Amino acid sequence: MAHISGSDRSQLLLLPEAIDDYVDVENPVRFIDAFVDGLDLKSLGFARVEAKVIGRPGYDPGDLLKLYIYGYLNRVRSSRRLEAECRRNMEVIWLLRTLKPDFKTIADFRSDNRAAFKSVFREFTVLCRRLDLFGRELLAIDGTRIKAVNNKDRNFTKASLDKFIAAADKKLDDYLARLDTDDEIEHAMAGARTRNLAEKIEALKRKRAEYAAYLKILERSGDDQVSMTDPDSRAMAAHTKVGVGYNVQIAVDAKNKMIVEQAVSNDVLDMGLLQRTAEPARAILDVEKLNIVADKGYYKIEDIEACERAALTPYMPRPQRGAAVKNGFFRKDEFRYDSVSDTYICPAGQTLKRIRESRLRELKKIEYGNPKACRACPLRSRCTRNIRHISRLDNEGVLDRMAERVSEKPEILNRRREIVEHPFGTIKQSMNQGAFLMRGLENVRAEFSLTALVYNLRRALNILGTKALLAAVRA
Ligand code: SF4
Repeated sequence: MAHISGSDRSQLLLLPEAIDDYVDVENPVRFIDAFVDGLDLKSLGFARVEAKVIGRPGYDPGDLLKLYIYGYLNRVRSSRRLEAECRRNMEVIWLLRTLKPDFKTIADFRSDNRAAFKSVFREFTVLCRRLDLFGRELLAIDGTRIKAVNNKDRNFTKASLDKFIAAADKKLDDYLARLDTDDEIEHAMAGARTRNLAEKIEALKRKRAEYAAYLKILERSGDDQVSMTDPDSRAMAAHTKVGVGYNVQIAVDAKNKMIVEQAVSNDVLDMGLLQRTAEPARAILDVEKLNIVADKGYYKIEDIEACERAALTPYMPRPQRGAAVKNGFFRKDEFRYDSVSDTYICPAGQTLKRIRESRLRELKKIEYGNPKACRACPLRSRCTRNIRHISRLDNEGVLDRMAERVSEKPEILNRRREIVEHPFGTIKQSMNQGAFLMRGLENVRAEFSLTALVYNLRRALNILGTKALLAAVRA
């Protein structure tokens, strides 16, 4: 039996007469088209919304925005590839009504309008809220690192530069000493080895001067590291696979695992980013109160307190840090605080009273102890090498309240992983966004806004379908 064969290429065919016939009613491009047409691009901050009165007419920003949303939805992010799609992809030909912008126009549109993409993401989030796609009760906050256009070898810290300069100075001294000796030995041999050494010295001097210049940049900026290809990117020490990149934070609603808020920064740590990410999400969801769950990387008393003030109820595990944990002694949570008497009760049942005060950042820190009891304690070898002190910040009640909430609902901590893994897994694996294409914080923010927008769009299409989304945007 023969295989299925195609038609003869030279045979005349009766193709549909309109481009519209090639795009079925359930095709997501129909939603992209209607969604962008319904946006007030000028108020969202897009440039050149009004056509020029004189001169060569430009492209409508709406058409280029449609192209980018379509491209990101279909894993086509580069301007050159988007240009190619405009010529060969029937869906894009339909979406752009046969327009064929060149790659430069496409790339310029993204960088000229980089601040406006977040507003488009928010517009779609508001539409999702109207469609009841968010549960508006529980948000999971998490961060990931995405690689920047900056190789690890092009990132320097003050310590690495100091180390290189010291090593270079040592090597230069050694070369110069050898140069003196070789001069004498090779005088009669036209100095081939000497010339070789002199070249090495020159190369090392150039490199040293380059590194000294980086050091000056660091000293001037007050930063602790400098990236030479993308100056805004940072080495993410705990994320060796990424190397140099950006910190991407998302707030994900538990109901359909959709992103409510996203932010890209070059903060190396997640600590301190909880309220900054959750507060705008609460505003978008338009609720009075919200539960938020995060991992222990966000555990910072000032941030947890700021969340409580903003009617956000945080849940996160208490990290086991400090010298006692490292040495295998009783952990702090094994000491019970009695707020009535302002004392701690230790595992041996002894009372630890206030003994001194100091400051940690802006906070008052109080130390509790009972030296007499420790000296006579049978549990001392499990508690301390000398006298055990327990420290408490003056607003530490905020941590106690959170620990109580977590003990009442411990399952909420497991939900965090399940909620945030879906968006991060999809973005990195299915959407293939393991690295940014552009340089600079503002540019990568624009990139990620598009990524988060199409992640939500894909979820909404899967849950409701194109027709329901189209009906909502036309209502
Ligand atoms: S060593 Fe001191 S703090 Fe530790 S259990 Fe004994 S009495 Fe309590």
